[in-house]
This record gives sequence, C-alpha cells and structure tokens, in this order.
Amino acid sequence: MTQHAEIARLSLDPFIDGKRRPVAGTAVHPTYDAASGTVLCDVPVCDEAVVDEAVAAAKAALKGTWAAVPPAERGRMLLRVAQFIRRDAGRLALLESLDSGKPMREARGDIETSARYFEYYAGMADKLQGDTIPLGQDHISFTLHEPIGVTAHIIPWNFPLVTTARGLAPALAAGATAIVKPAEQTPLTALALPDYLTEAGIPAGVVNIVCGPGAVTGAALVSHPDVAHVTFTGSVATGKSVMKAAAEHVASVTMELGGKSPVVVLADADRDQALDGVLKAIFTNAGQVCSAGSRLIVERSVADDFLKDLIDRIAGFGFGRGVDNPDIGPVVSREQLDKIDGIVRRSVEAGARVLCGGSVKKPDGLDGWFYSPTLLLAEDAGNIAVQDEIFGPVLTVQIADDFAHACDLAECTDFGLVAGIYTKDTSNALRFARSVSSGQVFINQYFAGGVETPFGGTKNSGFGREKGLEGLKAYYTVKTVTARI
Ligand code: NAD
Repeated sequence: MTQHAEIARLSLDPFIDGKRRPVAGTAVHPTYDAASGTVLCDVPVCDEAVVDEAVAAAKAALKGTWAAVPPAERGRMLLRVAQFIRRDAGRLALLESLDSGKPMREARGDIETSARYFEYYAGMADKLQGDTIPLGQDHISFTLHEPIGVTAHIIPWNFPLVTTARGLAPALAAGATAIVKPAEQTPLTALALPDYLTEAGIPAGVVNIVCGPGAVTGAALVSHPDVAHVTFTGSVATGKSVMKAAAEHVASVTMELGGKSPVVVLADADRDQALDGVLKAIFTNAGQVCSAGSRLIVERSVADDFLKDLIDRIAGFGFGRGVDNPDIGPVVSREQLDKIDGIVRRSVEAGARVLCGGSVKKPDGLDGWFYSPTLLLAEDAGNIAVQDEIFGPVLTVQIADDFAHACDLAECTDFGLVAGIYTKDTSNALRFARSVSSGQVFINQYFAGGVETPFGGTKNSGFGREKGLEGLKAYYTVKTVTARI
C-alpha cells in the first residue's frame, strides 16, 4: 500500500459530534491511486449504528449549540473555513488529485471554488429575512425563515470537495446541520474538512462526516427518519432510489443527476474560441463532469475542417499521474474504465465511427486506468453514445444541416443539464437559449459562471437548484405567523 505522507497524517475515522469516532475492527473499503491502480489507504465503513450516532449529533446541535450562535457569527465562522481552506490549498489539492486522479491545476481550481462557496454563503447567514404580509388593519402577518433541519449530503467522486462545499455552505448559512457521505472512491478531502470546521469554531455536531459504500452508509443516511432534506449528486439510477427512500419519511430532496450536454458549433462561430471551448468541455477531468459538453453538434458546412482541427489538437495531449499535472489524467476506477470502453464498443457495433481514440490507453510506466481521448461520429441520434452518459473522455459528434436542425439535435436526449452554443449571431444564440430544455446555457464559452450562478437540471438531469441565492432555498423553511390584533 502506498503510504503517501499527506495521507498518513490524515485521520480516516468518521467525524461525529466534534470528534473522530474510531470504528476500528469494522469493515474497510480501499481508495485507489487511479494512475497506478494501487491502494492509497483503507477507510473504515460506517454502518447503520454509526450513521444513527451522526444523525443524533446533528439533531442535538440543530436546536442546541448551532441555534445559539447568532447568524452574523455563523457567517464569520464560514468565512474562517474559507480562509483555512485557502491557506491549506496545497494540501487539499494534493489529496484531491491523489484520490481522484485529476490534474493538479484542476484540483487547485476545485479547492479555490470550495473556499468560494463558504465565502459566498457566509455573507448570507444574516440576511435570511422574511416578509410582512398586508392583511388589513386587524391583522399582522409575517414569515420566519427557519433552518430546514438535519440535512444529508451524498457526494459523487468527480468533484469531491466542491460538491461537499456546494451543499454544506448554504446549509450552514441557513442554520441547518449536516451529515456528509463522500463517495467511497474519493473520501480524503471530506475527511480533511473537519480540521478546518473545528479551527473555525463551528460547534460539535453541526457537521458530521461518515464514509462507506452507498448501499450501506448512504442508504442508512437517506432513509433516516430524522433527516429533513437530502442533497444528492450522482447518477440517475441512484437518485431514483434515494428519492424513494426520502419519500418514506417525507424528506425534501435536491437531485443533481447526470447529463449529456450538447455543444453546438455554427458555421459563423469564431473557430479558435469554439475549438478551445469544445476541448475544455469534454476533456476537463477526463470527461468525468456532469455538465461535460459530451455531444458536439457541428454545422455541416464547417464540420470537416473543425473535426480535423480537433483531432490535431487532441494528438498533442500528454497523459500522466494527476499530481504531475498532465493534459489528461486517469479515470477514477477500473469500473469506470470498463464502463467507458463498453459503451464505445457498443456504439461502434451500432454504426458509430471512431474518428480518433476509441480504446484503453497505457501511458509509459503507468498501470492505471487511462482512456484515449475519443471522437465518435454518430449519424443515428438513437446511438448509445449519443443517449447514454459515458462520463469519460469521449465526445460524440453529430452533424447538423443548419441552425434549426442543430436545435432539434440538441433536444434528442432525456437529459437537460447544460447546453452550449458557439456563434457570432447573438439572436440565434438567444433563440437557442430560450428554446433548449436545459438548466444552464453557455454562449461562446463553456463551464461559464461561478458559485454565484444557480445550477441544476431539467428532465433526467434532476431538479432543485444549487449555487447562487437559489441554492439557499433548500435549506430553510418558511413559517407564516398571523395575529389578530
Ligand atoms: P453514484 O450515483 O454511483 O454515487 C453517488 C453517491 O451516491 C456516492 O456517494 C454513492 O456512495 C452514493 N450512493 C450509492 N447508492 C446509494 C444509495 N442506495 N443510497 C444513498 N447513497 C447511495 O454516482 P457516481 O458514479 O459517484 O457519480 C457519477 C454521477 O454523478 C454521474 O451520473 C454524474 O453526472 C453525476 N454528477 C452530477 C452532478 C451534478 O451536479 N448534476 C455533479 C457531479 C456528478
């Protein structure tokens, strides 16, 4: 087992009621170095009894120590968390890159975004005020914004700390308490987070971290009757089972699910801008991004030249361990590699044509899980590579006759997370933005916006909004008080 010094210094025990809670002797699950396929460390699994403890701690803190902290002070605590995350950005980025395989520059970007979430929502802690409602001179009516209660956060492996901060920061700003369950593939930055929460003065029990497989730890958490809201980020299939479990105890849910996002390139697009945008949209984090631009829809009159330029640029990509900051790192696990390869094979069997890549890759000296950056031309909109989320460095190409055809092709899946368009014609860009079924539209750029811009899906991509002021709404409930006077 690799004993990386930074991991050796990290406590792998769950964090419950302000303390590490050793669960030695119970089951463990390994987390891997994706570049070499070797085990980084074994993390103890939290069973239902440990999850119960975490929920009990969060419940006690909700009406106890956390309720006693004035909102402005809650905000100051969140600001300190942001400050400490930034101070230790090098440590956290290293843990994230080791654990997920993502290139260091992307891991550093993730850590900065995580700090920004705490900073952004810190400013909202003392601004969650209600309304007064005019009912005439015989009444006074007003609303109170009250914390929703104990919240559960189920985290995927592709953006471990970012997704944690995205839900945790607004939940804490609103006065809610939380239990975080990181993905079993990437628990390390979540396990580092308690150091900063404690240093920032956040009381015991307000945030609890439990690790383990989804079917054990995650399922125990989302079905717990004392959990009032579940923020889930992950696959559509798991999202459906989480919704069912939450429905049993009438908990609200935010569902951030998958995507198959189209990027339209019209004939009048700025070529270099579109090339940069398309490459970034699919090859960031080796394509393991829910909002990846995984379907290129290019107008026929420029398609040949555009595809040639794309293939030339891809040919120059370098591979390597995430910590060595390559153009493309490994994918997170053996299962993910097999899934990508399987979909590409089935897509080709069904008639798609490989324009480049299309196979597992073995960079020199590395035994880990790499996949070649791939372009797949699919004439048939029903092809599996057009319809299914691959979550790897695979870009499906569809050719559009004109703008109207491109708009039709953009709509050809059951997902609706992001849609991008490159064109110099602002009217067409805005027509597209208005017509497409999507939670986000990016015009002449990709991964646009920041922690301030609401984010979420339509159709199978889920519902509810995170980020921005919208992201707070899941974490408070509105109580109306009406008096006769
Ligand atoms: P996944 O659904 O397999 O797992 C996500 C999380 O759910 C993990 O923590 C897992 O342990 C947990 N889980 C699994 N079964 C559970 C159960 N029965 N009850 C409770 N929790 C359970 O997804 P993944 O493979 O880790 O992540 C990839 C998926 O996430 C992709 O589909 C991607 O599009 C999506 N994603 C969406 C967003 C977004 O914001 N929309 C962001 C990142 C990833």
